[in-house]
Amino acid sequence: MQPAEEERALSLSDRELATAGSLLTEFLRAFEESLDARRVMPVLDRNQLSQLFEAPFPEVGIGVESLFRDIHEKVLPNCATVAHRRFLAYVLGPPNGIAPYAEAVAAALNQNCNFWQLSPAASVIERKVIAWLGSLFGYPEAAGGILTSGGSMANLMALSVAMHEKAPIDLHKAGLSALASPLVVYTSAEAHRSVEKAVAILGLGLDHVRKIPVDADFRLRVDLLERVIEEDRRARATPFCVVAAAGTVNTGAIDPIDDIADLCTRESLWLHVDGAYGALFILANRMKDCLSRCGRADSIALDPHKLLFAPLEAGCLIVRNHDSLRNTFHFTSSYLTVEHDPLLMNYLEYGPQLSRGFKAFKIWCSLQTFGVRAFRMAADRMLELARYMAARVMAEPSLELLAPVELTAVCFRFTNGASSGAVLARLLEEGTALLGPVQLRGRHGIRACITNYRTSESDIDLVMDRLLQPGKTVG
Ligand SMILES: *Cc1c(COP(=O)(O)O)cnc(C)c1O
Repeated sequence: MQPAEEERALSLSDRELATAGSLLTEFLRAFEESLDARRVMPVLDRNQLSQLFEAPFPEVGIGVESLFRDIHEKVLPNCATVAHRRFLAYVLGPPNGIAPYAEAVAAALNQNCNFWQLSPAASVIERKVIAWLGSLFGYPEAAGGILTSGGSMANLMALSVAMHEKAPIDLHKAGLSALASPLVVYTSAEAHRSVEKAVAILGLGLDHVRKIPVDADFRLRVDLLERVIEEDRRARATPFCVVAAAGTVNTGAIDPIDDIADLCTRESLWLHVDGAYGALFILANRMKDCLSRCGRADSIALDPHKLLFAPLEAGCLIVRNHDSLRNTFHFTSSYLTVEHDPLLMNYLEYGPQLSRGFKAFKIWCSLQTFGVRAFRMAADRMLELARYMAARVMAEPSLELLAPVELTAVCFRFTNGASSGAVLARLLEEGTALLGPVQLRGRHGIRACITNYRTSESDIDLVMDRLLQPGKTVG
């Protein structure tokens, strides 16, 4: 007997299941195969695009086959091809191969990663993933952390923890207005804007962020940092936190973390490292020693959706002392009695969210499927490619590097008066590549950022050739 209509309203019939399954696997296969032939960015007709989805609120559904037709005809042609080998703007990579399958399984399991009884395996997997990531930096047993939506949220949460740990009063109870003097944050002039955004959201006030100038290589100047902290102390402000960058978003500069950590120890300040772009390059041989210094920080923001090629969203905050997260985010309520277990985590006590998805799963699946070695090779290779590109820039009389190439961002400009804006637009229009603009010390230029495990030397060659030869078109 067929179940009543109301009962099967939101499930698929056996026939629909088979159809959805084969349409999905065919979609994934064909999409992967088509990547090289796709435009990096779609040619958009904005009017047409907004009309494309001008349907009335659908009272009756269109069914699985029509849905996939919409995906092919309406959605796919209007998507950025983020996985394209020459998508070289921002810090945005392709998802790794297992990602779509991991996401599908996570959706089916639909674990709520708030307290462990609701998500036992997920709770242990998240803790394991965080322990793995923490161990890269030599973090101790007592370390912990939580997966977030991204680096911005990890930075926001880190500043929140720092503020609660370092304020001289109970901020949960009394609030910022009860402070006798303002809390002050220090970061570099090259810091990601999510740092200032976090300061503003937390109510600390942008007037209390000190953006310390950088040296010739775009790294925070520790001598100036020390001086500004001293001035603030004399003016009776309360320094509480330094945010250092392990890879600034513009140039990939790595702040002198050892010296900053020494200063933070002397001054009893919280050291947070924004490693959303760069910290996971610790996987690469070339960067291992330098980035191991991040382990001296009280907290590190990482982005598995960048260098581990997890699909969006997957950020991570790791903290040296797991209790610091709990001190900030733990609340009790009558309707949520949570059972404690020394082996299992209740993540609702370690972050602002209650209901939380199973973000750890896609990261765990990626590491399980490919092994960390594959990620090490990808990181090494991307660093090599950036150096190859930098060498090509240096070999061109009409180009000049705007910054040393520390990670995979290559910033340069034309010295022959060519407009970088016009060249970027041409590269995009002819379908060669998407590169980004950059402004460094008032000079405008181009920024290429390699964050794709598929990008190869021949892609870099093509981009460089097309940059320099406006006459010919791509064959
Ligand atoms: C990407 C990035 C961020 C922000 O991370 P999201 O995951 O986009 O929120 C912060 N800092 C740096 C250095 C970044 O590269």
